[in-house]
Amino acid sequence: MKTYDIIVIGGGHAGIEAASAAARMGCSVALITMDKYAIGRMSCNPAIGGTAKGHLVREIDALGGVMGRLADKTGIQFRMLNRSKGPAVWSPRCQSDRELYSKAAVEEILSTENLEVVEDSVTDIIIEGKEVKGVKTKSGNDIAAKAVILSSGTFLNALMHVGLNAKSGGRYGEKPATGITESLMKAGFESGRLKTGTPPRLAKDSINWDVLEEQPGDDNPQPFSYQTDLNEFPYLPQVSCHITYTDAAVHKILEKGFDESPMFTGRIKGVGPRYCPSIEDKIVRFADKERHQLFLEPEGLDSDQIYLNGFSTSLPAEIQLEAMRKVKGLENVEMVRPGYAVEYDFFPPHQIDNTLETKLVSGLYFAGQINGTSGYEEAAAQGLMAGINAASKIQGRRDFVLKRSEAYIGVLIDDLVTKSTEEPYRMFTSRAEHRLLLRQDNADRRLMHYGEELGLIDKELSDQVKEREEIIKQSISVCQTKKLHAREVNGYLVSRGTPPIDSTETISKLCKRPELELKELLNVNGAENDPVLRQLINDSVALNQVEIELKYEGYMKRQQETIARLERYEDLKIPLTLNYSTLNALSIEAREKLNKIKPRSIGQAMRISGVSPSDISILLVYLKK
Ligand SMILES: Cc1cc2nc3c(=O)[nH]c(=O)nc-3n(C[C@H](O)[C@H](O)[C@H](O)COP(=O)(O)OP(=O)(O)OC[C@H]3O[C@@H](n4cnc5c(N)ncnc54)[C@H](O)[C@@H]3O)c2cc1C
Repeated sequence: MKTYDIIVIGGGHAGIEAASAAARMGCSVALITMDKYAIGRMSCNPAIGGTAKGHLVREIDALGGVMGRLADKTGIQFRMLNRSKGPAVWSPRCQSDRELYSKAAVEEILSTENLEVVEDSVTDIIIEGKEVKGVKTKSGNDIAAKAVILSSGTFLNALMHVGLNAKSGGRYGEKPATGITESLMKAGFESGRLKTGTPPRLAKDSINWDVLEEQPGDDNPQPFSYQTDLNEFPYLPQVSCHITYTDAAVHKILEKGFDESPMFTGRIKGVGPRYCPSIEDKIVRFADKERHQLFLEPEGLDSDQIYLNGFSTSLPAEIQLEAMRKVKGLENVEMVRPGYAVEYDFFPPHQIDNTLETKLVSGLYFAGQINGTSGYEEAAAQGLMAGINAASKIQGRRDFVLKRSEAYIGVLIDDLVTKSTEEPYRMFTSRAEHRLLLRQDNADRRLMHYGEELGLIDKELSDQVKEREEIIKQSISVCQTKKLHAREVNGYLVSRGTPPIDSTETISKLCKRPELELKELLNVNGAENDPVLRQLINDSVALNQVEIELKYEGYMKRQQETIARLERYEDLKIPLTLNYSTLNALSIEAREKLNKIKPRSIGQAMRISGVSPSDISILLVYLKK
C-alpha cells in the first residue's frame, strides 16, 4: 500500500493551501482530487477578496499561503473597497481571470516538491479505533497516511437544481462525491445539509454595454501578496466591470417561476447563505426594495462569458432568461448557462478543534466548505491552518492556533468551533471585535514571523518586515515627543482649515486632526534633519503604518487593554476530557453545550451561546480545585 505523511482530499481552495503548506514544511503529501485540471477552480464568482475576505487573503499570504500570489498573477481588476471608511474596513478585492487562476494553481501545485497529485475520487476514510489510517478510492486503491485532511467542498452527495430538475453533481459538469459522509457517520460524526447557488453566465456580445454604468478598477492597483514585485504589477491588462439594476417588471417575471422554484416548493432541504441570497430570496425577503444592483463581471480576458453577480438563482431556465431580458442593457441577452443551486453535506464544525483536527478521530482534519463555511477565502484560510497543523503534529511541533486578537483567521476558526453553524458562514469585519488592530495593511506585521518559523516564508522577506517594525516603533516614539512650534506649523494648519496652535504641540497630537497628513507635518518639521524621520519619510509603507497608529492611538490602546483583560481567560485551559455532566451546578443548557463543543479554554467557553456568566464562575471554581 502506498504511504504518505498526509493525504489531502480535494484540490479546491482549501485543499491546495493544505497540500502546499504541508509539503513545503517537509511532509510527503498526496493531493487526491477528481480532476487534476480543476485544481483551484472557482465554482462561482471570478473574484478574490472583498470585505473581510480581502483581510483573510492578506493573512494567508503573510503566513506563506498561495492564494494572494495566485490572485495577483491572474487579476484583471483590482479595487480597494470601503476607502471612504476607516482603515479597519478597507478590503482589497480583485476580479480574476477564471481560467488563468486555475492554470496558475495547477502550475503551483504540480511544481511543489514532496507533493504528488493523484487523480481519483476518495470513497471511504479508513479509521481504526479512534485514529485515521488512510483512504480508499474509487479506482480500488487503499492509500495510507498519518493524517488525512478532508476538503471536499460542495461535492459530498451533491445535488444540483434548476427549477424542478435535480441532477447529481458537485459543480456544473462535475460528479458528486459519494461514500465519505456515510463512512464518517458510521464513525460517529454528525452531518447536515446546506445549499448555495450561482447566477447565469451571459454571452458578452449580446449585452448592450453602452447603456450600462462602468466601474473601473483603482488607478493605482495594490497587490494582495507581500511577495509580488511592484515593478511588474499588475501583470495583466486591467478591465472594467459594469453595473445595472433589476426593477418591478423583472421581479414580476421572477415571481411567475416561484411555483417551480426548488427553494420555495421545499425540494431543496439545505439551508442557504443568508448573506449571499438568491435573487428570488431577495425579492421575497426585501419586498419593499424596488430594485437590486447587478454587476456584470468579465470571466476573463479572452472569455466571451459574463458573470451576472447579484442574480444567483435556481428558478427554471426560461424564467431566468425572460427576467434578465427586462433588465436595462440585457434586452437581447443570450444565456450561455443558467444559474443553479447546489445542495451538499457538511459537518457542523463543533466537531473540530482549533487546529481543525476532528475531536473524534485523531489525525483527521476538516477544512473548507465542509465545515459549513462559504467562500474561497474562508476555505483557503482553513486549508492553510489544517495543512500547517497536520504537518506540525507529524513533526512533533506545537499546535498552530491564532488568537481572535491576532487574525481574522483566528476569529473564523474560533467562531466555527465555539458557535458551530447551521447556515453557510461567511466572514465580515463585524465578526472581529478587535478589527482596528486586524487591518489588511498590517497582516505582515502581525503574522509573517509565524510564516518564517513554519518555513513557509523566506527569511529575507520576514527580516524586511522586522527592520521596518523598528523604523515604525522609533518613529512613533519620535512623533510622540517631538514638538512643532506655532511659527513653523500654523501656516500649514490654517491652509488645511484647522485651528492654529498657541505655542507648541507634538507631531503625534497634531496628526490626530483628520484634516492633516503625517507626511506634510513631517515636511513642515524638516524631517530630513532627523535620522529616524528621514528613514520614515522614504518608506511609504512604514509612513502609512505610523500615521494610522497615531491617528487611532486612543482606540487602539483601548482595544489592547481589552485584549489583555480577556487574554487571561484564553490562558485558563480546560482539559478536553472534562465530563461536564458531572458538574451538577452548571445549567442543563451549559452542560449540553459544553459537552458538545468541548472548549479548550475558559475564554472559548465564555463565547458559547447558552453558557452564562454564572456557569463560567462555577467552571472557574472547579478548575481552581
Ligand atoms: C454552484 C456554487 C455556487 C457557489 N456560490 C458561492 C457564493 O455565492 N458565494 C460564496 O462565497 N461561495 C460560493 N460557492 C462556494 C465556493 O465555491 C466554495 O466556498 C469554495 O470553493 C470552497 O472551497 P473548498 O476548497 O472547500 O471546496 P471546492 O472549491 O468545492 O473544492 C472541492 C474539491 O474537492 C474535490 N473533491 C470533492 N470530493 C472529492 C473526493 N471524494 N475525492 C477526490 N476529490 C474530491 C473536487 O473535485 C474539488 O476539486 C459556490 C459553490 C458552488 C458550487
